Amino acid sequence: MQRLAEIPFPDVERIARSGRGLVILPVGVVEEHGAHLPLGVDSLAAEVYAEAAAPHLEQRGYEVVIAPTISYGVARAAIDFPGTLAGEPEARKSLVVEIGRSLARHGLNRLVVLNGHRDLGHMQALDEARAKLVEDNPGQILCVGFTIDPALSAACYREGIGELSRSVRPDREGHGGEWETSLALHAFPELVKQDIAGRLEPNFDYDVEAFRGETKDYWSLSNGSGYFGSPQSGSAETGKKIIAIRGGNIASVILKAWGEAKQRRE
Ligand SMILES: [Zn+2]
Repeated sequence: MQRLAEIPFPDVERIARSGRGLVILPVGVVEEHGAHLPLGVDSLAAEVYAEAAAPHLEQRGYEVVIAPTISYGVARAAIDFPGTLAGEPEARKSLVVEIGRSLARHGLNRLVVLNGHRDLGHMQALDEARAKLVEDNPGQILCVGFTIDPALSAACYREGIGELSRSVRPDREGHGGEWETSLALHAFPELVKQDIAGRLEPNFDYDVEAFRGETKDYWSLSNGSGYFGSPQSGSAETGKKIIAIRGGNIASVILKAWGEAKQRRE
């Protein structure tokens, strides 16, 4: 696995010529995740999942290149919290299209957009970018992670993790709750305010439909606390397992769509 920003152009040329290159573009947001987690959780998570998926893909013949993360997303639901940066969908769409076209121009024509941020407008923008790039090259792009297709999102993120929950209300775990706290405690513990996390009472009593449908904002849904579920139920051990499982899930989704690298070229 290599990072696009850390290699020189001849390396990219070689990977493109091998016909086995696969670029993962992590996408996140700068958005509040409660008083215990950093604003960049979703961007950092997308990077962590990209790194976890990469070895599975390389085992099947791909040369994985991770592009620099798009850390700016659409975040209308959390806009009332300090630090949340909410951009317009159109700019995200064109950014992804420009990146895809630049990569394809040099023969890197497999792009996986791995999105760590669940927001309907944000996911819609990524899907519109996908549709635009598909017009250029039908096999070029795949959206994974949080996508506008709930079944695909579940295949990436929900499959196999249900039994790991220690929460008394796993059905109420969401933004900033057990799962994201666990991931952060394992992948970037130095950025977690653990003393604060330990004091946060569970937030189970919120309007789930309004949360999922984004018909109410996070501030009013959480009384200004910014998290949904139980941060105290999170653990580094759970985080480690979640990352391994989701990395495998995401690789499976990609391999299901594109097959093995060698087979595809034969
Ligand atoms: Zn998040």
